[in-house]
Amino acid sequence: MSERTLAIIKPDAVKKNAIGDIIARYEKAGLKPVAIRMMQFSKATAEGFYVVHKARPFFDSLCTFMSSGPVVVLVLQGDNAIKKNRDLMGATDPAKAEAGTIRKAHGANIEFNAVHGSDSPETAKFEIAYFFPQTDIVG
Ligand code: ADP
Ligand code: MG
Repeated sequence: MSERTLAIIKPDAVKKNAIGDIIARYEKAGLKPVAIRMMQFSKATAEGFYVVHKARPFFDSLCTFMSSGPVVVLVLQGDNAIKKNRDLMGATDPAKAEAGTIRKAHGANIEFNAVHGSDSPETAKFEIAYFFPQTDIVG
């Protein structure tokens, strides 16, 4: 079933000049970009995006990291896009990520882990709407 997911190329990966490599991986896996936006989050934008993690000990550090430099936010579309992207990303901790995953290739540690991907249809819906009006999504 074709679905959409939200991906973010995080500030660490943008700094490492990995935008092109990561988007190539999405395309090769059949995840078609249908919206792309480059921006720098304010702290408040990061806090609103990660509101589900508000009570976590790493919340403040995560939001500081996510607003520390430019990011690329994408809507990806394809069969089983949510799970496909999670598989492509690898485990949250790059040290535990499988060979061939984005986080294995570009992540430094459990916080600076290169990419974000929605984890369910409900979060994908919230996350896509957080950044993109319907009219800015093609296809
Ligand atoms: P994922 O991004 O794999 O869905 P989570 O939703 O659990 O992982 O966490 C969101 C983000 O918070 C992670 O991608 C990572 O950047 C950061 N994070 C998660 N766990 C930790 C941790 N224990 N310490 C620091 N940062 C963390
Ligand atoms: Mg998550």
